[in-house]
Amino acid sequence: MQHAAAQPASPGPRDLGEIGVEGEQQMMECGIGQQLSIQRMRPPRFDGADPMAKPGRNDPCPCGSGNKYKKCCQPKDEAAERDGLAAAQARREERAAEQRQRDHELHTEVAAWLRQAEEEDLLDDALEDASNAVIDLVKAGKLDEAEAASRALLARYPQAHDGWDRLGMVHEARGNSREAADCYRRVLDFLRDHPDYTDDDGLATLYTGLIAKLEPPAAT
Ligand SMILES: [Zn+2]
Repeated sequence: MQHAAAQPASPGPRDLGEIGVEGEQQMMECGIGQQLSIQRMRPPRFDGADPMAKPGRNDPCPCGSGNKYKKCCQPKDEAAERDGLAAAQARREERAAEQRQRDHELHTEVAAWLRQAEEEDLLDDALEDASNAVIDLVKAGKLDEAEAASRALLARYPQAHDGWDRLGMVHEARGNSREAADCYRRVLDFLRDHPDYTDDDGLATLYTGLIAKLEPPAAT
């Protein structure tokens, strides 16, 4: 038997519309492939019983009671439809309320982040001001005040390296090279313990250089 799919020249789809019921019957007996093409070409035939269609008000009720639909099941069907629509609306409103709640939570969270970022900025500014103030005190020769300010920096900003740097600066100004070098070693310790503190690789190199300058290898 020759397979239907191997006969592309069999009656083309454009011819099928012309075929009567008898011809169609013959076509359907020719093979499955042609039968499928007939089904594709022709709209499904209705016998008037679309299960999704609503009966008319004056039609016999589909429940089979023999009464008109409007006198039988229509009120109940319409009530069920209204209940379904109301339930769908309630679900939509519930989802919308949930979305509003999530939006509100996100806004609250973002506002908190912004406040925190602002506070961190203010903290950074304050640290910078205090840090610069030590330099001014050193330049003015007020070394005791500069040392006190450096220790205050250390106490107040343990998350920054500024305190040890400034204290080292004060020791340098006093000519205490060894104490200064100790402070800069504390900066190196701090940088090692806080790998996320800065992307500036030059910082460690800078303090290593300062230490080497303050503690030259003993002459032999
Ligand atoms: Zn009924």
